[in-house]
Amino acid sequence: MSPHQNSIVGAIEAGGTKFVCAIGNGSGATLLGRAQFATGDNPARLMSEVVTWFSSQQKKYGSIAAFGVASFGPVDLDKSSPTHGFITTTPKPGWQHADILGPLRRAFPGVPLAFDTDVNGAAFGEARWGAARGLEDFIYITVGTGIGGGGMARGRLLHGLVHPEMGHISVSQRPGDAFPGKCPFHGSCWEGLCSGPAIAARTGTPAELLPPDHPAWDDIIFTMAHALKNLACVLSPRRIILGGSVRKAGLLGEAVFFERLRTSFREALAGYISSPALSELGIASYIVPPELGDDAGVCGALALAQDAAKETAPS
Ligand code: ZN
Repeated sequence: MSPHQNSIVGAIEAGGTKFVCAIGNGSGATLLGRAQFATGDNPARLMSEVVTWFSSQQKKYGSIAAFGVASFGPVDLDKSSPTHGFITTTPKPGWQHADILGPLRRAFPGVPLAFDTDVNGAAFGEARWGAARGLEDFIYITVGTGIGGGGMARGRLLHGLVHPEMGHISVSQRPGDAFPGKCPFHGSCWEGLCSGPAIAARTGTPAELLPPDHPAWDDIIFTMAHALKNLACVLSPRRIILGGSVRKAGLLGEAVFFERLRTSFREALAGYISSPALSELGIASYIVPPELGDDAGVCGALALAQDAAKETAPS
């Protein structure tokens, strides 16, 4: 057995509502220890709590060989940038230009840190242990407080100039849907129309309490389907994993939501792309919820950490 297989690693899913921290070992998705902290509006104080927790875990389980951090954003992923590991332009109070990696780097000098977006993290978790096992090309979308997308192309996580911002693409609205959208940057982008807060703004009711027969579901599902159609046309993913709270669809129910979304997606494609995966039968395993459920993010951060430990382990 090579040394990295027993390495203790640290994982952080840095979300806009909570930070989930975990300790893992080996190469599986087993979490030895786990804690969560409210994100709040004071990043320095939160990161000091996080560091204290990992130090206590280190006393319990042995030294941490690497960290994986999957963070809400936008984030600076450019390793040559002086603000690598920072949140950048978020509207979240207190978090503009917040340093996530710095406190970890100072507290655990020399320990490798892998850093990516929360959605790429969740995508990576699903690729290793969940709904994207064995797939080299897929996307992971989360619809919750905001909308984000990540994924892999040819087995590599999607990066580029910065990172994909799939939630901010321009999308179609169902005829008669006059909601102006609420993205502070773009108004009626996908996130501006379909995020949890957008649904609450357009109906006066949180998505989870929206009656199943509320017409807003038609508007939301129509826009979601057209957004996924755009992504399918651009990236040709072999599967679309849809996570986040909105897909649970409250009183409508997750199963009905997915069924209607798949039908609407096929209508939006209008039979243009030819693949068994997009057939009436195939579509049920093409647009799917995450297999790791709400643990996709923290498991992805764990996978990032395991790889970082492997890269630096003596052979
Ligand atoms: Zn936007």
